This record gives sequence, structure tokens and C-alpha cells, in this order.
Amino acid sequence: MSKPAYEDLPKCTECERPMRPRKYKSKEYPKTMAMGNYGMCNPCTKTKREAENGRGNDPQTLRNKQNLEVFLNRISADRRRMEQRRKVHMVIR
Ligand SMILES: [Zn+2]
Repeated sequence: MSKPAYEDLPKCTECERPMRPRKYKSKEYPKTMAMGNYGMCNPCTKTKREAENGRGNDPQTLRNKQNLEVFLNRISADRRRMEQRRKVHMVIR
């Protein structure tokens, strides 16, 4: 089987760069993108996916998530401390 001509390669619907078939390495098709999904190249697919389900990637949400983690850690630390105190009480009694 012969390699598809460079001009015949499908183009990414997002950035319009040519995409090489999956079985070929970038060496065999210089200046082409790895194929992604939905007619897009790999980087564009990734970008799109992150934009769709990555609401967690904007700084504010990320900060909220970190705050939440700190908060949850503090709660579980408190709970551990309470349980320890309770154990101590039980021992005393
Ligand atoms: Zn692209």
C-alpha cells in the first residue's frame, strides 16, 4: 500500500493543518498533526475536550477546588481530633 499524498491528507476542521493517518509517524509526514477525534487533530481535540468538560481549568474554579480541599482536610482533621479526645475520655472512665 502506498502512502497517501501529502495533499490528500485530511485537514483538521479547527486549525486546518494536515493530519497524518494514525499508522504513520511524524517522521514520515513532516509538518503534520497527529489525528485526534471528530475530524480534528490531536491538540485541537484535547483543547476542545478541555473546554467542554474542563470547567475546572479556569483559575477561579481551580481556586475554589483548592479551597474546598483545604476545607475538607480541616474537617477531617477536626474529626480525627474529636475521636482521639473521645478515646482519651473512654480510657479515663
Ligand atoms: Zn487542529
